[in-house]
Amino acid sequence: SNFSDYQLSDELLKSISMLNFESPTKVQQQVIPAILEHKDIIVKSQTGSGKTAAFAIPICQLVDWDENKPQALVLVPTRELAIQVKEDMFNIGRFKRLKVAAVYGKAPFYHQEKELKQKTHVVVGTPGRIIDHMEKGTFDTSQIKYLVIDEADEMFNMGFVDQIETIIKDLSKKRVTMLLSATMPSAIETLSNRYMKDPIHAEI
Ligand code: AMP
Repeated sequence: SNFSDYQLSDELLKSISMLNFESPTKVQQQVIPAILEHKDIIVKSQTGSGKTAAFAIPICQLVDWDENKPQALVLVPTRELAIQVKEDMFNIGRFKRLKVAAVYGKAPFYHQEKELKQKTHVVVGTPGRIIDHMEKGTFDTSQIKYLVIDEADEMFNMGFVDQIETIIKDLSKKRVTMLLSATMPSAIETLSNRYMKDPIHAEI
């Protein structure tokens, strides 16, 4: 299959071609159409499979540029991954002028607060700092329509499960949820049963 088989804007097809992505990877072939149709999806996949672009491409397509409040939230286990995902989403959203903010711990709060006050379509962050911003009122989640839980098993191993639940409970139920994980321990099954709607299971 081909990226032009999907309902993607010319701006997106242009950035995809600038990144030299010739055709969608296996994970992208499953995830992109599902998200474009607003379906929840659980993806068992490893780094290197093209998983970041798999969620970044449809989210970039779906967000409304004119909405100033964040519409997508990507939860990641580490600061390094937050920075990486922000950069990947920036590259994919370049011609749409997609605004992506990254928030993570052990970095000054004030700079992140300033970033969140400006127009932001996508927030990428680690659970603890995301909760800090929610509690201080510096991250408005009222318009979040897309939630990505990336490297879910890593987040469980790091003890972030309660924080992830706290965040999910704050979000609108009218959202699309995507969960990505290399392994599927029972704690992840429990979380997905509780908070996802008839998810598609993609095995790569
Ligand atoms: P990830 O699994 O998200 O860590 O991505 C692994 C690498 O694959 C990254 O360097 C991406 O830029 C690259 N990549 C993602 N999608 C494609 C694609 N469709 N064709 C070629 N490379 C890709």
